[in-house]
Amino acid sequence: NKELIITKEDNPIYTIYIENNYNKLSSVIDKLQLEHGKALIVTDSNIGIHYAQEVKSIVNQSIPFVEILTLEPGEANKNIETIQKIYHTLISYQFDRKDILIALGGGVVGDMTGFAAATYLRGIRFIQLPTSLLAMVDSSIGGKTGVDYLSYKNMVGAFHQPSAVYINLQVLNTLPEREYYSGFGEIIKHGLIKDKSYYRWLKSNSSSILSRENESLTEMIYRSCSIKKQVVESDPHENGERALLNFGHTVGHSIEKQLNFSYLHGECVSLGIVAAAQLSYEHGNLSIDELEDIKETLKQFKLPVCLSNVSFSSKIIAQTTRNDKKMEAGQIKFILLHSIGAAYIDKTITEQEIESAVQLIL
Ligand code: ADP
Ligand code: ZN
Repeated sequence: NKELIITKEDNPIYTIYIENNYNKLSSVIDKLQLEHGKALIVTDSNIGIHYAQEVKSIVNQSIPFVEILTLEPGEANKNIETIQKIYHTLISYQFDRKDILIALGGGVVGDMTGFAAATYLRGIRFIQLPTSLLAMVDSSIGGKTGVDYLSYKNMVGAFHQPSAVYINLQVLNTLPEREYYSGFGEIIKHGLIKDKSYYRWLKSNSSSILSRENESLTEMIYRSCSIKKQVVESDPHENGERALLNFGHTVGHSIEKQLNFSYLHGECVSLGIVAAAQLSYEHGNLSIDELEDIKETLKQFKLPVCLSNVSFSSKIIAQTTRNDKKMEAGQIKFILLHSIGAAYIDKTITEQEIESAVQLIL
């Protein structure tokens, strides 16, 4: 059992709890002093079937009125229409400012519940109970909430910090394999941008991690959350340092879009990491050995390093990076590595150079 406290200007804002069950959830809720509040648990059907009743009965120990809203799973439902369903539910139960939303799910449920909480009555509180590996180490921390709009991912949203993040590692047991591996796109990224010793640790513990052994999982999630914490604290609204978390994502997002979301986020990030590592070898100081090592590690964690059976053009991928939100005055802010564990922002990378790096993953 571990805890991390997220601060802002040295004041604590919320705690991330890493646990092996939901038992302490009730005492975490008690600390929020809701005073006769209501709670709405938002989940999706894949997760709700396993955990919604259990969470409801634990929340009920602190809050007498608890309801569950079960959404359709999947990124395709991460849109304004689903947000409206959440609003309707909140209105029908007469939720007000002292009431709380509880996101029980992966990144999709977390982003939407957070956005509904950010906007309903100009903002109510919410708690994150991330259930996917990706949500545990990435999307549940940092206060980014939102939905996709038209074909643009996370185009509409708000910064809204959760009141607590409570991770129950046991729920990973029902997470499908491919979804589990997808989380390693972000986890390996954490080591690559900030922490070489963590990266080495991941490599040498891969077998216990892949078999979801409790001790390794606790250590890994703690270390990844610590890196995410360090980055978001230094830059809560993404003006500088937080851009480093975008390593592998510029090309990754383009691929995700080109493949119409048939590849998972972490898989596309893995491909984006390979392209970014190649550019780091060409433009930064990353050595050829480090470049090869990175590809090996991604493979070790069952992530793709090239796209063999899909056909699309590297030119289109490179062009799509131009539309990515992470642009400044028409210039792509590309995250590269000086070496493993040391990332930096490079504004000199051209579309042509991106295109040749992408060719290497086709
Ligand atoms: P992500 O968390 O990767 O951003 P999603 O929220 O779409 O994306 O979650 C990925 C998929 O895994 C969804 O189909 C979701 O319903 C499912 N899922 C998430 N957590 C669990 C879990 N603990 N057990 C079973 N299925 C889960
Ligand atoms: Zn990501």
